[in-house]
Amino acid sequence: MNVENIYKEAGALLEGHFILSSGNHSSKYLQSAKVLENPKTASLLAEALAEMIKSAGIEVDTVCAPALGGVIAGYELARALDVRSIFAERKDNVMSLRRGFEIQKGEKIIICEDIITTGGSAMEVAKIITELGGEVVAFAALANRGFCHRQNSGVQRKDNCKLLENTPFFALADFEFEMYEPENCPMCKSGNVAIKLGSRA
Ligand code: ZN
Repeated sequence: MNVENIYKEAGALLEGHFILSSGNHSSKYLQSAKVLENPKTASLLAEALAEMIKSAGIEVDTVCAPALGGVIAGYELARALDVRSIFAERKDNVMSLRRGFEIQKGEKIIICEDIITTGGSAMEVAKIITELGGEVVAFAALANRGFCHRQNSGVQRKDNCKLLENTPFFALADFEFEMYEPENCPMCKSGNVAIKLGSRA
């Protein structure tokens, strides 16, 4: 499966001049929601991810995703693994489980995102799962932005990766892009104006 091509064909891998959420500039941008527009593509990607997790012998009871970005990926992964799907969401900036979702003591949980950048949201979810007595058995994402190390990849963990070091992380592909501080951005230097995308685009 060529994940990069799937992203490109879905218009989810954009090329241009973008301001990332970190404030840095890049000539590429992943708009993961676009790849999940097509439910068949979403389930195909989730099935491939589920295969990796099953092959690694990871036992799972539940997939938990951080809303909003992770919900579709998490739901499809849960379907592919034939387990329960729940999500956590931010209220007043604090991540929590709402809507009657419960965690049993010792319940084995995978935290699933559409894309893992530094893993900040995934770790906020991991913290509440652990506090509620659940066990975080793995992290999963369709795409890895290249800051964290996923299973079966040569991409090394960077200092800004927040995921637990001893918990496996499964993703379908690494998307490592060149990034520039605004003052050192070659596209800015050539007079090109950067645009900000993200959930507001
Ligand atoms: Zn720039």
